[in-house]
Amino acid sequence: MCSIDHRPHSDKYPPIDCRVCTGMVMNKINFLEYSDIILDYCPSCGSFWLDKGELETMHSYIARVDSGAHEIKNRIAYDFLIRLSRLMYSIFH
Ligand SMILES: [Zn+2]
Repeated sequence: MCSIDHRPHSDKYPPIDCRVCTGMVMNKINFLEYSDIILDYCPSCGSFWLDKGELETMHSYIARVDSGAHEIKNRIAYDFLIRLSRLMYSIFH
């Protein structure tokens, strides 16, 4: 079965196992509508995992919103994205 929502980038990376739960495969979720940000989410412990390059994707997405080029439809998810982005930035820079 195919869905029109099933875009190619969903399969850019294979599913991965949760780093916390043994033998639990993480779900792929499109974090915000129309964004290319695909997070791996563990339904068991709630952990998130970012694939390589998605931090940059998050930053460019936030920049598009800041510049007014993109309108936010889900404010709660966007606020979470900003917090997550800042957290990731503080870890990796
Ligand atoms: Zn887990």
